[in-house]
Amino acid sequence: MKVDELKKFGFEEKWVERIKMRKIEELYPPQEEFVIRKLFEKNCIISTPTASGKTLMAILAAIKTLEKNKKVLYTSPLVALAFEKYEEFSKFFSDYKVAISVSDYDSSDPWLQKYDLIVATNEKVESLIRHGAEWIKDVGLLILDEIHLLTDPSRGPTLEILITKMRRIVKNLQVIGLSATIKNAEELSEWLDAELLKSNFRPVKLYQGVAYDSIVEFPGHTNIELNKQLELEEAIVIDTLNRNKQILVFCSTRRSTEALAERLSKVVGSRLGRNEKELLTKLSDEIENVLEVPTEQCKRLARCVKNGVAFHHSGLVGKQRRLIEENFRNGLIKVVVATTTLAAGVDLPAFRVLIKDAKRYHPLYGYVYIPTLEYYQMIGRAGRPRFDKFGESIIIAKNKDDAEELVERFILGEPEPITSKLASEPALRMHVLALIASEFCKKKKSVLDFFSSTFFAFKYGDISLLEEKIEEILEMLSEWSFIQIENNKIEATRLGKRISELYIDPLTGKIFVDGLNSNKKFTEFSFLHLISLSIEMKPLLSVRMSELDEIESTLESRREELLVDIPFEEYEYEEFEKSVKMAKVLEDWINEKTEEQILQKYSLTPGELYSRLQIADWLLYSLHEIALIIKKKHLLTPLKKLRLRIEKGVKEELLPLISLEGIGRVRARKLYNHGFKSLEDLRKVPLESIARVVGEKIAAKIKSQLEGKEEKKERQTSLFLEFK
Ligand code: ADP
Repeated sequence: MKVDELKKFGFEEKWVERIKMRKIEELYPPQEEFVIRKLFEKNCIISTPTASGKTLMAILAAIKTLEKNKKVLYTSPLVALAFEKYEEFSKFFSDYKVAISVSDYDSSDPWLQKYDLIVATNEKVESLIRHGAEWIKDVGLLILDEIHLLTDPSRGPTLEILITKMRRIVKNLQVIGLSATIKNAEELSEWLDAELLKSNFRPVKLYQGVAYDSIVEFPGHTNIELNKQLELEEAIVIDTLNRNKQILVFCSTRRSTEALAERLSKVVGSRLGRNEKELLTKLSDEIENVLEVPTEQCKRLARCVKNGVAFHHSGLVGKQRRLIEENFRNGLIKVVVATTTLAAGVDLPAFRVLIKDAKRYHPLYGYVYIPTLEYYQMIGRAGRPRFDKFGESIIIAKNKDDAEELVERFILGEPEPITSKLASEPALRMHVLALIASEFCKKKKSVLDFFSSTFFAFKYGDISLLEEKIEEILEMLSEWSFIQIENNKIEATRLGKRISELYIDPLTGKIFVDGLNSNKKFTEFSFLHLISLSIEMKPLLSVRMSELDEIESTLESRREELLVDIPFEEYEYEEFEKSVKMAKVLEDWINEKTEEQILQKYSLTPGELYSRLQIADWLLYSLHEIALIIKKKHLLTPLKKLRLRIEKGVKEELLPLISLEGIGRVRARKLYNHGFKSLEDLRKVPLESIARVVGEKIAAKIKSQLEGKEEKKERQTSLFLEFK
């Protein structure tokens, strides 16, 4: 169907033109079916492969909703993906107001009332509902991206609860779920009273192969003989470059992405042209210097990029990830070695996709095959529409027998069905409290009733499996004084309501309350250790043999500062040691150890460090709010200061200086050591004196802030917002 024909279905000329501006002239078959069946005005589940054009279908439905003066809410599981969609929608719906809301979990964001299309993460929407955001009632269309993540043990329950709540809050809500190809899409659509659009269409033909012993076998297609002198991965990469194409390699761990990228950069670098080398050197410099002081990982990444290869995982700084994606898209970077998180997220196709690890380590079961659903997502990245006539995916086998097994399991296999993960205790604990705290449920019966509309109940016929657990949780929450149960009536206490709003696990809330109530001497370390005991900080960093002595001696010498007794039980004791290690990491940070020192000492990646700092920031905020409710006034100022110090990584004496924009921990320390210890000290001297320490540009920026010409920056209270 030509895009022009959309007019017959009531889409105005201007929309047709905008679609054409995206270089789309003809609809893909699933898109055509979407239009002919008028799914843009119905509930539906779209279950099609990656890159089959689901976004356009979402856009068509959004047009219809916006024209009826209703709001569109688009939810995404990842912050990075939400930003990508936000940019896309802002451009397309330029005559509407488009907003993004991913940060600050302690607000109902009333400003969103004025917006027509809102992009948010699942967690953020759930927190908006908890805060009773009024505008939610005006949502006409809810678009759920990556709805198959319902099956994900950590993120699935929130998505499931969010859908169930939204359908209860908004009468006649239209729901569109965008899904990868899954086995039981029928079930999912039945649960949502939705129609199902299922297709295997791919815009680019895909050949799936398996590699072993210097050969790539494509069942039913021509095989490729590889260079026998090279290791398998190197040979596949060189074969790709010889065809003038790019390759995306998936590994199961972050460390293996780095090791492989380093190995590959040795063979790729020598095959680049001079011009390319020059551009890559520039890019490599930029990537190395995104932080105030480059870490070892930044340098390693920069060295790979210089040779046209990059590793890509959640341990990178956001800006580095974006630079890599951008320069892979424009063809400068030839090889990206990534963890599987990339497969689910950003639109980053390559001619060839190589899957290095068919198995992944599981702490309980040892090495297990990756889910077929994940395999599908990875191979979905193969083939660049408009550039390639076909794409290729290759999975690596150990030998011929293993290759046969992989063909059976993945190439000929079907993705597994998705299931509800709502029965997990932490998930239930969080959501039961939230339902009561936001007055969604005021009686025990209504809690059970709510769960009977979930996918869990739909799939298992009833919630008898959940009932007992819910009862136990209600009892526990009441024991902790987070809720009150009287006869059949349930109500959250002020404390319970606040804990739910803060978006922390009730068990964390309980740990915090007990810690703050303990009659011990509070030091910074006490607080840092208390937040390291929270559920949100898990999984904690493991303690290496070589670190044991130090941790144990810390435990001994600083016992008085710990707000919780040291446990006796073996497993709990090990966890406790880990929490002490975490507290030490945080303490080193606020005592101005350099990033590199911390990363080396504790074997961390920058991404790991920053994500822990972000969580610590939120937990300290939560601790402060709880201290406020349980009337520990004397702790409020120390907690506020500590939070600022965690944000900036500075000793207390630098706090005045870091309130200035452009002044981070390194510059603040420099200024301080040069005698500029307060804002007043900076005010007194001429610009030149400051410039001698931090350079002309920064000195001017400081002066203009001190003279009130420039606004001081606002702090953001964000939990999962990426470091940009
Ligand atoms: P999905 O969400 O299914 O993974 P996207 O909506 O992100 O896929 O689309 C993948 C790419 O295909 C995008 O770059 C998009 O612009 C392009 N695309 C979508 N529909 C068409 C079409 N009918 N013709 C050409 N390109 C299209």
